[in-house]
Amino acid sequence: MATVAGNILQRTRCAYFYDDDGSRCNKRTRGQGCDAIEGFNRMHAILGASSSCVATHPSDMCVALAALGAVIHLQRTDGKRQMAFTDFHCLPQCHPEIETHLAPGELVTAIELPSLSFGARSTYRKVRDRASYAFALISVAAALELDGDAVKDVRIALGGVAHKPWRAWKAEDFLRGQPASVEVFRNAAETELADALALRDNGFKIELAKRSMTAVLMELVEMKA
Ligand code: SF4
Repeated sequence: MATVAGNILQRTRCAYFYDDDGSRCNKRTRGQGCDAIEGFNRMHAILGASSSCVATHPSDMCVALAALGAVIHLQRTDGKRQMAFTDFHCLPQCHPEIETHLAPGELVTAIELPSLSFGARSTYRKVRDRASYAFALISVAAALELDGDAVKDVRIALGGVAHKPWRAWKAEDFLRGQPASVEVFRNAAETELADALALRDNGFKIELAKRSMTAVLMELVEMKA
């Protein structure tokens, strides 16, 4: 059994975070240090990380919610508020122990998915080490609207790359109005990953993210919506 809010609020699967008997982790104990940065970091972040934390968000569902423009509804005793789902999770910066903008005493009461006219042409691809019971090395959620052979509109989010579900705003801006071709999709992926930084073990994820994004967009071009 699980809940939508539980999925959204799940914590990283960084092994050092869970090893509280010998590993240093800024997310678990503020100011302690981060053993993942110089350690085994194959699953860790390539975008938006900091010198405090290089963990990734483990959710699949959140990646789709980020791509589809979800809105999160929050409530506490003195009122309600809502925010774009893409603003809900935090990048680690100096405070990796703070993972979301959920305030003390606040509840997640609903997730709203605005209708998306081109939502029928959408998909989610998860690249992982095993066929089941494995978190994403890279994942891509995307929706595509075509106008003839050109991209009219597009939504893209990446998982497995950052401390939060990563909306690919740069790639989306790059693609609107461009021909829907493999070369253009690859260039959009290059644009999105231009600031990616590799750790000792996870450099392969940069190329994997570019190829996955390109392949998913081509899949959507060929999809009968
Ligand atoms: S990457 Fe983040 S969660 Fe993992 S050990 Fe470092 S501070 Fe802790």
